[in-house]
Amino acid sequence: MKDIIVIGAGAAGIMAALAAAEQGAAVQLFEKNNIVGKKMGITGKGRCNLTNACSMEDFIAHTPGHGKFLYSAYEQFSNQDLLEKLNGWGLATKVERGGRVFPQSDSAVEVRKFLYRKLCDAGVRIHFEDAVKHVSSWGDTVVVQAASGTYEGSSCIITTGGMSYPVTGSTGDGYGFAKELGHTVTELKPSIIPFTTKETWPHHLSGLSLRNVEGSLWRHGKKLAAYFGEMLFTHFGVSGPIILMLSSDAAHNKKCVFPMQLRINLKPALSKEQLDERIQRDFQKYIRKEAENAMKDLLPQRLIPIVLEQAGIEGTCPVNQISKEQRRDLADTLQALALTVTGTRPIEEAIVTAGGVSVKEVSPKTMESKMVPHIYFAGEVLDIDAFTGGYNLQAAFSTGYAAGTAAAGKECGI
Ligand SMILES: Cc1cc2nc3c(=O)[nH]c(=O)nc-3n(C[C@H](O)[C@H](O)[C@H](O)COP(=O)(O)OP(=O)(O)OC[C@H]3O[C@@H](n4cnc5c(N)ncnc54)[C@H](O)[C@@H]3O)c2cc1C
Repeated sequence: MKDIIVIGAGAAGIMAALAAAEQGAAVQLFEKNNIVGKKMGITGKGRCNLTNACSMEDFIAHTPGHGKFLYSAYEQFSNQDLLEKLNGWGLATKVERGGRVFPQSDSAVEVRKFLYRKLCDAGVRIHFEDAVKHVSSWGDTVVVQAASGTYEGSSCIITTGGMSYPVTGSTGDGYGFAKELGHTVTELKPSIIPFTTKETWPHHLSGLSLRNVEGSLWRHGKKLAAYFGEMLFTHFGVSGPIILMLSSDAAHNKKCVFPMQLRINLKPALSKEQLDERIQRDFQKYIRKEAENAMKDLLPQRLIPIVLEQAGIEGTCPVNQISKEQRRDLADTLQALALTVTGTRPIEEAIVTAGGVSVKEVSPKTMESKMVPHIYFAGEVLDIDAFTGGYNLQAAFSTGYAAGTAAAGKECGI
């Protein structure tokens, strides 16, 4: 029996190695870092949002990058299967707001170390600081050239991740291996990433976060996407949950071409009439004040001059001199504060890479290449990506499990 070779010890590679070893296969895991799961160790702001407690349909819906490709992998290894496994092994977990699942310890590093111990217990041979340079296939043998030498195996599972946060080891090597093996790699784009803006005023508001707002992307007067929730101004533009979700649409929707307009509805719960009534009430309350001092109940102080400028109202204009038309313009601005989005921050800063090894060329059941037998792909190296909420790690765990199980089954006749 030849070894199953796994390249990359992230979530996908670790689960692939464990699944193959569980089936009785001999597994060698190559990792360029001196630890496993380096990226996993920084996930979830250091707490590791392992998965989500939602249904499979919700998983697919939260995966704009080829969610349907994942049906079979999720059937084989669902969020419940992952949690049963982790809990059974002794890693306690908890469910938080939005179904997000975290380790009880709130420590991503603990998860990384825990999985390392499981790999050791399972007898997986880990080659640390051993970057793979080249992968080829000759009949029933795969040949892997690593820094330490050349290795032969019965199959090879490529789990090298995407291109974001390259300091964690995810430098896109797997795309090169896939291309050399004859695979198509679809366009690589940053997803779940902040936007840069043409206007500089967000820079001056850096650190200011807005809750319960709606952000929408527009181009040529057409609304392309919209989300409700929280956002943040930064020294380069805008970020925060709804912006990160919009960036995922920007990566997938062909109609989303930069520059685009971002409209922020600061009062999405109010109709135009309700908002006008609200403004009138505030103006009545602050009847002797100037405009910039009459809106503190409506808006964060730092945002008032921006809104007034876009509405075409002088900050020093006495409230009792503001006309009905000006009030209408103010209400319009409050529900569509505009910014020009020029692009995203670089892919290195993205949470995930959109694009990758074309899923059309990979079996959704086994993750085996449809072009080169004995070669498998799993995790972010594939053209799959999801929103935040634990969906990306689950996709990596599930595809890794499917690949490891299938490779072991095929090669060991299990
Ligand atoms: C800051 C941040 C926070 C995130 N938080 C979450 C979260 O809370 N929940 C969630 O679901 N998702 C989260 N994600 C996304 C998630 O981390 C990834 O989608 C997931 O780690 C992908 O797993 P993977 O195994 O496919 O790839 P990776 O985790 O990127 O692992 C790939 C591994 O392959 C190794 N490697 C690469 N090339 C070679 C080579 N040539 N030879 C040997 N080894 C190689 C790398 O060193 C690396 O260890 C976050 C991402 C980031 C950047």
